[in-house]
Amino acid sequence: MVAAIAGSAKQAALNRSRKRMQDASCIFCRIVRGEIPCSKVYEDEQVLAFQDIHPIAPVHFLLIPKEHLPTLSETQVDHEAVLGRMMVLAPRLAREQGADDGFRLIVNTGRVGRQEVFHVHMHILGGKEPLGSMLPRPKT
Ligand code: AMP
Ligand code: ZN
Repeated sequence: MVAAIAGSAKQAALNRSRKRMQDASCIFCRIVRGEIPCSKVYEDEQVLAFQDIHPIAPVHFLLIPKEHLPTLSETQVDHEAVLGRMMVLAPRLAREQGADDGFRLIVNTGRVGRQEVFHVHMHILGGKEPLGSMLPRPKT
């Protein structure tokens, strides 16, 4: 009986902590929870990668932490592990997706970075041919 109560208190605490790590209305959290479908590239306990719904290169997928983290500007020291994991996974997943001679990794951040979805994501872009230039250079 006591063990059952302790068990349910533990489960409730776990559920509260999971809730804190997810945002009910965030589209990428909803993908993580399986409420919105995605074309999955990779998944483990910490991260998820899926094809961008509007690709702008032959290879274009997104790599996200499963935990809801709105922008890279809000990262803290305890995000080092998951962000490091994403950096290490990016080249491997890029190769597996066909970007075997380089790729571009973009993390749009905040207003100036023109971030549209406020759940940290890496765009991984590539293909067989070199991509366009990063930003148009101002005319001199
Ligand atoms: P950003 O401007 O960096 O915030 O980019 C957000 C990206 O998320 C865009 O490239 C969108 O095409 C992509 N995106 C938005 N909704 C979805 C979705 N449901 N599945 C896959 N990609 C999505
Ligand atoms: Zn989210």
